[in-house]
Amino acid sequence: MKRVGNFSGKNILVTGGSRGIGAAIVRRFANEGATVHFTYAGNKAAADAIAAETGAKPAQVDSADRKAVMAHVASCGALDILVCNAGVAEFGDPTTLAPEAVERLFAINIHGPYFAAAEAARKMRDNGRILIIGSINGDTMPFPGLTAYAVSKSAVQGLARGLSRDLGPRGITVNVVQPGPVNTDMNPADGPMKEMMHAGLSIKRHGRVEEVAAMVAFLAGPDAGFITGAMHTIDGGLGA
Ligand code: NDP
Repeated sequence: MKRVGNFSGKNILVTGGSRGIGAAIVRRFANEGATVHFTYAGNKAAADAIAAETGAKPAQVDSADRKAVMAHVASCGALDILVCNAGVAEFGDPTTLAPEAVERLFAINIHGPYFAAAEAARKMRDNGRILIIGSINGDTMPFPGLTAYAVSKSAVQGLARGLSRDLGPRGITVNVVQPGPVNTDMNPADGPMKEMMHAGLSIKRHGRVEEVAAMVAFLAGPDAGFITGAMHTIDGGLGA
């Protein structure tokens, strides 16, 4: 069912849209009238459920697979909005964490957004939007055990800064949304790190996926055309 809303007529791709923050972003854009494509890694049941609910178009595309990412972006046609959301975390001491796991994290969290954005930029319409879901850990890392993740979330800051220069002449904006703890499968609000995380927050709870989707919708909308190359933190005060 086609809905009418702020994003009617827009062609949008969300990577990692089957669960968590990505699913909330898919819902938000679909509810506001967009044609939404999304990718997922392997959870077909979750992808099918979101697709059935929203009418969005799923595709199983591993963000670590550069050729598959670029082929899928190209197959979506001229995009108005790209949201690079797919991401993973690996906890562990850098002296013992498996190098293969770290390489895969970098491939998903850094190379995936880079190549998706580069490919999308070829055909993206003027005044388009590229959004990357980074993390407050791109700015600040209050816990041990997440070094590789922090590296990856700092790297996408450089991606947004550079691309904003490359694509600005076409009116395309590039921004990073940096959540703090958000209640998803990756970081459940009732998980073992709850007390430690909430101790560092000004707002003593996990964020909601809809709150992150609302920031994405603002940055993707017509009122945000002069905002680019910037980081937008939504972290309950974790970095305050
Ligand atoms: P979830 O683990 O809840 O969901 C991850 C989503 O990304 C799923 O749709 C998953 O697909 C997809 N995905 C994972 N790996 C790949 C891959 N290799 N290729 C394609 N899709 C993939 O994560 P969140 O919603 O919590 O996180 C989303 C983003 O937000 C990430 O970039 C994360 O780093 C960032 N973030 C999250 C925070 C949090 O506290 N939750 C805080 C700050 C940032 P499938 O269902 O098939 O597994």
